[in-house]
Amino acid sequence: MHQLNDGHSIPAVGFGTWPLKGEDGRDVVRAALNNGYRLIDSATNYENEGVVGKAVRDFLSVSGVSRDEVTVQSKLAGRHHDYDSALAAGYESVTRLGLERLDVLLIHWPNPITNKYREAWRALVELQKRGLVRSIGVSNFTAEHLAAVIEDSGVTPAINQVEVHPYFDQAHLRAEHERLGIVTEAWSPLGKNSAPFDEPPVADAAAAHGVTPAQVILRWHVQVGSLPLPKSSTPARQVENLDVFGFELTDAEVAAIALLTKADGRLFDGHPDTHEEM
Ligand code: NAP
Repeated sequence: MHQLNDGHSIPAVGFGTWPLKGEDGRDVVRAALNNGYRLIDSATNYENEGVVGKAVRDFLSVSGVSRDEVTVQSKLAGRHHDYDSALAAGYESVTRLGLERLDVLLIHWPNPITNKYREAWRALVELQKRGLVRSIGVSNFTAEHLAAVIEDSGVTPAINQVEVHPYFDQAHLRAEHERLGIVTEAWSPLGKNSAPFDEPPVADAAAAHGVTPAQVILRWHVQVGSLPLPKSSTPARQVENLDVFGFELTDAEVAAIALLTKADGRLFDGHPDTHEEM
């Protein structure tokens, strides 16, 4: 579990839901819950809050698992950064999910062109005060964006969800998160576009521990303090991706995996270049 700066805690591994939607999406999320995931990521822009909420409600009604044991997370879209628009969008998200409250709401990205992310953050603070949202955070924020919202509102985000994987370990931003008491959530945790499954540091560690390369990468996240959100529509992979607590990478293995970032050498500019962010 990760302790958040607001006193709540969230699981060490979550489930990603892009691009799941419709009935098939509901079934995949339901399978993930059956397979043990207790943190489900979503976003207004994924157009799947409805089926994520349906899967969670169906699961809770038959499993005996209590509502408090499942963390449902969504994200405010970049087009809703005006204060009133952000407040309304928060209510819309909770309504689409069909839940009494949202456990985590993140600002999906700073949308620097409109430059209204401080307003959006103040709206999230208000939604938290009203009890509609339990924990609040951001996504794709740089250290500068974080400093700006903290200075403006006096409230530090509990979470920053950013791209993190062995090709892009975000060591500097993660260190800043640690300094500020912010939990790092990792999107595309296995490695955007192409996963480094065949890279020697990953493949060698997998062979040494008798696990899969995906498990090595997810375990690496856990050991460096990053909370990965792997998505899989494949039930066996869902199980595999959660089963990363029965072995430990050595310090040398962790360091060797991080060196893959140096080979890639990208800098984080806070602008997600994927699918769903506008
Ligand atoms: P990912 O979870 O790292 O990778 C997903 C891909 O890996 C799928 O093609 C999946 O295939 C495959 N996979 C999963 N487990 C595997 C395993 N054990 N072995 C081999 N292949 C495996 O990347 P992602 O979906 O891009 O990111 C995860 C989540 O982060 C998203 O779903 C979304 O919730 C969030 N996200 C957020 C942002 C943001 O801007 N905040 C941006 C991107 C993503 P199958 O499904 O076919 O098994």
